[in-house]
Amino acid sequence: MDISNNIKEFLSYLSPNSCRLVAVSKTKPPADIQEAYEAGQRIFGENKAQEMTEKSELLPKDIEWHMIGHLQRNKVKYIAPYVSLIHAVDSIRLLSEINKQGSKIDRLIPCLLQIHIAEEETKFGLSEEELILLLNSDEVKEMENVKIAGLMGMATNTDDEIQVRKEFKGLKRLFDQVDAMELPGHVDMKELSMGMSGDYTIAIEEGSTLIRVGSAIFGARNYTG
Ligand SMILES: *Cc1c(COP(=O)(O)O)cnc(C)c1O
Repeated sequence: MDISNNIKEFLSYLSPNSCRLVAVSKTKPPADIQEAYEAGQRIFGENKAQEMTEKSELLPKDIEWHMIGHLQRNKVKYIAPYVSLIHAVDSIRLLSEINKQGSKIDRLIPCLLQIHIAEEETKFGLSEEELILLLNSDEVKEMENVKIAGLMGMATNTDDEIQVRKEFKGLKRLFDQVDAMELPGHVDMKELSMGMSGDYTIAIEEGSTLIRVGSAIFGARNYTG
C-alpha cells in the first residue's frame, strides 16, 4: 500500500465536502501512522485503549486520537487525559464512567452515541427509543464532563448498496430529529460518524461528517479487532 498517496487522495477527495477523515490505524505499526501523518493526516482511529495509548506516546503530539471501538468501562481512565473523541458510546453506564474520569482531571470529553442501524444482531448500539431516553435522563443531564457531539453507526456488512444507503439515511434522519429537539447544554449535534472503506462514498452522500477508513488506506489487517 502507498499510504502517503492514499492519504493525499482521500484529503483531496474530501476537501470540497464538510466531511473529515479518521484514518483507522488499529493493528498497524507506528511507522505507518507516521507516514500518513507526514502526508497531512491528523486524525487517527484505534479500537483498543492500550494500543492507542502506546501509539499516542510515540507519535507527534498534535495527532487527534479517536476511540472508535467498543470501549470497556475499566479502560476509560487510560484514554481520558488525551482522547479527542469517543465514537461508540452505547450506554448510560459507559457515559457515566467517562464523565467520572473527565471530572477527575477536569476535562470535557467529547463523545458520540452509537446507534444500531445494521441488520446484524451482533453490532453494538442504541435503538432510537433508547437514544431518546438516554438524552432525556436526569442522570445524563447532570453530567458536566462529557459532551455529546453527535451520533455514530455501522451499516450492515453487505454489497447491497440500497440496504446500506437506507441505513445511513435512517441515521441521518435521526440525527436531524435529535438536533431539532430541546436538548441539555452539553448535547450539540455536530458530528455524524458513518462510512468505512467499503461504504464511505454512500455515507458522504447521505451526510456523514466523519468517515472511519482503515484498510483502504493502510491495506488489509492480519486480524480484526
Ligand atoms: C475497523 C473499523 C473501521 C475501519 O474499517 P475498514 O473497513 O478497514 O475501513 C471503521 N469503524 C470501526 C468501528 C472499526 O472497528
